[in-house]
Amino acid sequence: MNAVEAVQPLVQARNVHKAFGEVEVLKGIDLDVAPGEVVVVLGPSGSGKSTFLRCVNHLEAIDRGSIVVAGEQIGYSLHNGRLNKLPARAIAVQRRQIGMVFQQFNLYPHMTALQNIIEAPIGVHKQSRRQATELAMELLARVGLTHKADAYPRQLSGGQQQRIAIARALAIKPKLMLFDEPTSALDPELVGEVLATMRDLADQGLTMIVVTHEIGFAREAADRAVFMDGGIIVEQGRPDDVLGNPQHPRTRAFLSRFI
Ligand code: ADP
Ligand code: MG
Repeated sequence: MNAVEAVQPLVQARNVHKAFGEVEVLKGIDLDVAPGEVVVVLGPSGSGKSTFLRCVNHLEAIDRGSIVVAGEQIGYSLHNGRLNKLPARAIAVQRRQIGMVFQQFNLYPHMTALQNIIEAPIGVHKQSRRQATELAMELLARVGLTHKADAYPRQLSGGQQQRIAIARALAIKPKLMLFDEPTSALDPELVGEVLATMRDLADQGLTMIVVTHEIGFAREAADRAVFMDGGIIVEQGRPDDVLGNPQHPRTRAFLSRFI
């Protein structure tokens, strides 16, 4: 066994199926993500990218297969060799290991940037206000927005709001971060600052699954690119290979739109 195989994956998705009514959206997704790995997921609209992220985060329950994050099967516990469905409270605990950033930043509009960040650590994790504020100020520094701690979302640009949303997600100290098209709602001139923040996180060793159409980010910051279409993974590999020399016609057709 070599060193790479010896590392336990942080995320292990196996044969993940998900349907909405008659529509089968995920048709057997297998994906491992190693600790510290940055995986970019590309694919046309409707291919199931968001649904997959939402399943990893248990915002959606899967129909078949399994998703293990940090050694725990999402939604289940293993007891005496049997899988048991977890109650909502226990699922909430599992979900706290996973941070998620959405296309729409979803900050609480009536709270300042700082209040947005400390809300979960105080409310859910029962940290003291002082402790939570200390961490929040560190995170604000990390996303370059210390001077905006007391600003309300409406006083911030879209890029700044998204960086606050990233800081908020980090405040729960997640083992895994999921990003669902984090720059798609931004004006083009604001995309760069959010990607730079994400690149920093990648450099610092955070494990990330990023759904994005930002090919440049995939090439520069990702360890692996995954191309999804029609609810399956069509192709995956090193970003330079998948993006520069795609093997599958569907990957080629998709990428041709970006050139
Ligand atoms: P992507 O993120 O790749 O654009 P999605 O995962 O959002 O794709 O959606 C994949 C398919 O699943 C789409 O056809 C979408 O309409 C459908 N879908 C997603 N969420 C739901 C839902 N909650 N109910 C019904 N259909 C859904
Ligand atoms: Mg989507």
